[in-house]
Amino acid sequence: MTNDEIWKAVLGEMETSLSRANFITWFKNTTIVARDKAAIIVSVPNGFIKEWLENKFNKKILQSIRTLNPEIREVRYSIGKPKLDFIKQDFSKIIFERELEDKNDVPLDSDVDKATNLNKRYSFDSFVVGSNNELACAACVAVTKNLGKLYNPLFIHGGVGLGKTHLLQAVGNKVAEYRERRILYVPAERFSANIVDAIRNKSIEDLKNQYSHLDLLIIDDVQFFAGKEKMQEITFSTFNELYGKNKQIVFSSDRPPRAIPAIEERLRSRFEGGMIADIGVPDFETRLAILKQKLIGKNLELDSEVLSYIATHMQKNVRELEGALNRVVAFNQVYNKIPDIKETKNILTSYLNTPYRKTSPQSILKAVADFYNISSNDLLKRSRKKEVVKPRQVAMFLLREETKLSFPEIGQKLGGRDHSTVIHACEKIRSESAIDEPLKQELVLIKERVYNSSDR
Ligand code: ADP
Ligand code: MG
Repeated sequence: MTNDEIWKAVLGEMETSLSRANFITWFKNTTIVARDKAAIIVSVPNGFIKEWLENKFNKKILQSIRTLNPEIREVRYSIGKPKLDFIKQDFSKIIFERELEDKNDVPLDSDVDKATNLNKRYSFDSFVVGSNNELACAACVAVTKNLGKLYNPLFIHGGVGLGKTHLLQAVGNKVAEYRERRILYVPAERFSANIVDAIRNKSIEDLKNQYSHLDLLIIDDVQFFAGKEKMQEITFSTFNELYGKNKQIVFSSDRPPRAIPAIEERLRSRFEGGMIADIGVPDFETRLAILKQKLIGKNLELDSEVLSYIATHMQKNVRELEGALNRVVAFNQVYNKIPDIKETKNILTSYLNTPYRKTSPQSILKAVADFYNISSNDLLKRSRKKEVVKPRQVAMFLLREETKLSFPEIGQKLGGRDHSTVIHACEKIRSESAIDEPLKQELVLIKERVYNSSDR
């Protein structure tokens, strides 16, 4: 047997006895680099893994090798460059990969009801109420008790990762609980895709028909409808049909109806016709309570100092807060040790300093263009139309704030403009955003997009 064959067999055996995430953590980039009659040398990427394999897995690895080659009596581990590209594995990377693997391990879809698209994980019980979401949550609960009668439609808006989807799903789950109801939860993006498919298959009437028989229709992230006329038309007619029958509709968006660009006035006025509630950023107490809620069922007790540290440093949104907590939990699983405050600081420092918060001029331009529903190209053109002048100035401002580009470089990126134009734009947006609340909000929302988009 060749070294490769032996090692493959060992890996195959180890893989069956470990979780996928663990397996990847310990055995990625390992290989046999040398063998003599009685010993095998395995190369590993770093000292941390070496120690772990020696102490925790050596016996099993040796056993496994000996079933193939009984003469081998010893396995040694050496830190070195395996045949494949050596990937530097610092601590944060290990944790990060674990997270990714964990996500792949348990496809979220497995908990999702195929007919309603509802995920049981999102309930009112697991939703922490604070002053930032009190009204939105109360409105959602009220809707479940007075379906189609009290607030119709209910429109929830708030920034990324603040709990809109959670609340909307909780509405669906609650309603599903106590009566036989036809419910559909659908992200606007999927709603659109269904419509496009139906148009292609000439089954649009069937689709409309399906929607019109619902008791509760929940459409998440309707800002996505901006500029999509056909979607708006079908949403509008579906809405009218359901509304006329006292059937409940719930919408969410990352901004209030007024701020959604390129949306027909009649649809906007429908959005505004019921109850509008917003979700804001949670305060410290609420963040702490959310952390405690998220720890339930994780079988891990963290020091209160550790919890406050996380709550203090993860202020932006709940998704990020949860992400930080997951890292701490992963640490516990990997090292089998409850992290103390020093280790927590370490984990979070690497979390905050990883490429996570880096951005590129391209992603800023894209986020600005998407937000204002124009093309990135429009930002570069010479046009002086109002619809593009403001987005262009915002883009300049954000490029200056979020990247290290100089004024002339920014001018260059935006279709070769003079640096004085850039300076003027940056000053204008800076001073206006200090007094103009909607503009300030827009900047926050765009930045959220920049830092939350996957193609950063
Ligand atoms: P949005 O749809 O607004 O982008 P999500 O509903 O997806 O945000 O929330 C992001 C994550 O934060 C989810 O895992 C959700 O369960 C959690 N979350 C947000 N707000 C709360 C809260 N008040 N209590 C418990 N979990 C929350
Ligand atoms: Mg959402």
